Amino acid sequence: MNRSYKVTVIRGDGIGPEIVDEAIKVLDAVSHLKGFELKYDDALMGGIAYDVTGEPLPKETIEKAQSSDAILFGAIGGTQWDNLPRELRPETGLLSLRKALGVYANLRPVKVYDELVKASTLKEEVVKGVDLVVVRELIGGIYFGEPKGREEDRAYNTMVYSVPEIRRIAHVAFQTAMKRTKKVCSVDKANVLDVSQLWRDIVEEVAKEYPEVSLSHMYVDNAAMQLIRDPKQFDVILTGNIFGDILSDEASMLSGSIGLLPSASIGDKFGLYEPIHGSAPDISGMGIANPIATISSAAMMLKYALGEEEAAECIEWAIAQALKDGYRTKDMSQYDAKEVCSTSEIGSIIANYVGKCKK
Ligand code: NAD
Repeated sequence: MNRSYKVTVIRGDGIGPEIVDEAIKVLDAVSHLKGFELKYDDALMGGIAYDVTGEPLPKETIEKAQSSDAILFGAIGGTQWDNLPRELRPETGLLSLRKALGVYANLRPVKVYDELVKASTLKEEVVKGVDLVVVRELIGGIYFGEPKGREEDRAYNTMVYSVPEIRRIAHVAFQTAMKRTKKVCSVDKANVLDVSQLWRDIVEEVAKEYPEVSLSHMYVDNAAMQLIRDPKQFDVILTGNIFGDILSDEASMLSGSIGLLPSASIGDKFGLYEPIHGSAPDISGMGIANPIATISSAAMMLKYALGEEEAAECIEWAIAQALKDGYRTKDMSQYDAKEVCSTSEIGSIIANYVGKCKK
C-alpha cells in the first residue's frame, strides 16, 4: 500500500465522539476499497481537554495537527464548561486551533438531497435542487478584531478586515466558483459599514482575475431573506466571519437537518474537516445523533486534503443511497423513513454501501 495519510482525530465533547466513530467506520471502508491507508492519531480539544489537561487546546494537539495531512473534528462544548473564564472555554480552544492552523476559509456546501426534500420547513419547489456553497472567512472579522472588551457599563468588539485577508478569501470563492456554475454572490453590509466597503472594493478587484465568473453583491439582511425566498439563485456565497456564521446556519435548514451539513476549514497548509453543528448536549449519549454531517466532512477531507476524489465520491454516493433506501436517524425520521436507525446503525449502513461503490 503506497498511499498512506496521517489524520489527526479530535472527537471533542457531547456527540463528538459518537459521530466521529461513524466517520472513521466509513473512512475505513473506503480506504480498504480504494487501497490506501489512513493512520489516525487522537488529540484532545474542548471541554474534555480542559478536564484532562487544564486547557481547552493543549500544545500537543496543535503539534499533532500541524504534523498531519488532515484533521477530522467532531464538536466541542457543553453546559458544564459554560461558566469557565473565556480563555478556558471549549469554544476558545476551537477558535485558537483555527487560528494556529491558519485555516482562513470555511467552505460549507448546502445540498438538498431529493429524498429529504420534505424534511425542509420550506416548500418542496423552493428547496428541490438547491446546491450552493457558503465560503466564509474564518479567522478575521469581529470574532477576532481588537480592541475588544467589557467595562462597567459598556462592551465592545471590532470588525476589522485587512486587504490581504479579503483578497485571499475572495480567491477561494472564485476558485470554488470556477469548478461549479461560475457565479459568486458577495454578501456584506456596505451601505453601513466601512469594513464592508473595503470588502466590496477588493472583491471587485479580485474578480478581474476570473473573467468567466459573474459577480454580484448583496446586503446581508437581503441575503438572509433571499436564502429563504429563492435559495436556488445562489451558487457560491462569499462572506465574512459573522455574516457567514449566521447565513450558513440558516442555509442548513434548507436541507432539513443541521445534522447533514459538512464543512471544510482550509488554509494554505492545513485543513480541518468538521460538521457545522455543535456538540448537541441535549442528545449526547443517546445514540440518536445524525453522523452524516461528519461522514460528509470526512468525504471533503479525502477530496480536498488527500486528493482521494473517487473515495470521496463513493462516500457521497453511499450517503445518498442510504437515504434513498429510507434509512433515517431520528432527526429526519418523519420523512419517508423505512427504518429509523441509531447513530451507529446508520454509520454501518453507509459503510456497507461504500463497499458496493463502483466509482
Ligand atoms: P448544536 O448545533 O449543538 O445543537 C442545536 C440543535 O441541533 C440541538 O437541538 C441538537 O440536538 C441538534 N443537533 C445538532 N447536531 C445534531 C446531529 N448531528 N444530529 C441530530 N441533531 C443535532 O448547537 P447549540 O445547542 O447551540 O450548542 C451546543 C454546544 O455546542 C455549545 O456548547 C456550543 O458552544 C457548542 N458549539 C460547538 C460548535 C463546534 O464544535 N464547531 C459549533 C456550534 C456550537
